[in-house]
Amino acid sequence: MKTMTTLTNIADVLNGGKCILILPHIHPDGDTIGSSLALLLALKKIGKKATILVEDEVPSSLDFLPLEYIYHELPQDVCPDVIVAVDSSDLDRLGTRADYLKHAARTINIDHHITNVQFAEYNHIDVKAAATGEIIYELLQKMNIAIDKEIATCIYCALSTDTGSFKYDNTTAKTHRVTADLLEYGLDLNEITVRLYQNKPYEKLKLLGEVLNTLELHYAGKLSILSVTQDMIEKVKADPTDADGLVEFARDIEGVEAAVLLKELSPAEIKVGLRSKYKVDVSKVAADFGGGGHRKASGCTLQGSIQEAGKQIIKAFKFLER
Ligand code: 5GP
Ligand code: MN
Repeated sequence: MKTMTTLTNIADVLNGGKCILILPHIHPDGDTIGSSLALLLALKKIGKKATILVEDEVPSSLDFLPLEYIYHELPQDVCPDVIVAVDSSDLDRLGTRADYLKHAARTINIDHHITNVQFAEYNHIDVKAAATGEIIYELLQKMNIAIDKEIATCIYCALSTDTGSFKYDNTTAKTHRVTADLLEYGLDLNEITVRLYQNKPYEKLKLLGEVLNTLELHYAGKLSILSVTQDMIEKVKADPTDADGLVEFARDIEGVEAAVLLKELSPAEIKVGLRSKYKVDVSKVAADFGGGGHRKASGCTLQGSIQEAGKQIIKAFKFLER
């Protein structure tokens, strides 16, 4: 049966498990990877067998985290009795790995998305948490697992990336208190900042150059749209993950209230990233297309060409006409 549950119950389930499989969401970001690794490192400390399984490439900006614990295929000797989905609002966010949830004795869903559909047996959804990393920090405290520099680095990465470096209004006093505590463990803030934000591949900047040429404004400049095609990625020899974050350039334009990045995954499948600044709730727009996320940052996937996807998305923002 599906239930919302406390972190104490989640801690009990994890303590009762032997082999724990941790699943970050598809198209992984700093929160899902940082949170998953912090949880894995903590579980290892208390003698659990823990594995992280992903199905997409982890962005190169996260290379400084202990990615050696992350597998792209489940090792043969791993038969999980507990599965933990991290930072995923629905089963689609787990991609093909959603099937594993059918076979495990216990399933846990730890997340902070308002659109979470409570797909596991034990669901802990805290929409006030700035990042899933903030929930993981609390969970480790409940489990009396001592944080160390490596765990602190992973949680810091989750918090920093999901708050836009502590700028977005999901950032709370608690977020800052947790962060202050993390800094006590001696993490190397300069190194983390350089690796996360000041270490962009040259090709990413070349891609930005291509993508900026596609900028469109609609609804008297309240909606901005950028497009990334596979041709652009190939032309500048960029990696598909180099498109991550480019939507922020569309958002940060004067007068823009909502921003869109259309990314061609294939000629007939388009990933849509959505951002807003003030009142526009882009999670509702994403949900209309089967996606989800947060009020000011959400996403969905549309079938069809990038032109068709663009038309549908522009229509979905018709409320900006007022
Ligand atoms: P991004 O644009 O950075 O990929 O995603 C922004 C936010 O929207 C993240 O919190 C992410 O979890 C959420 N998100 C992006 N795409 C999807 C999607 O297809 N489905 C759901 N449920 N959430 C999404
Ligand atoms: Mn998150």
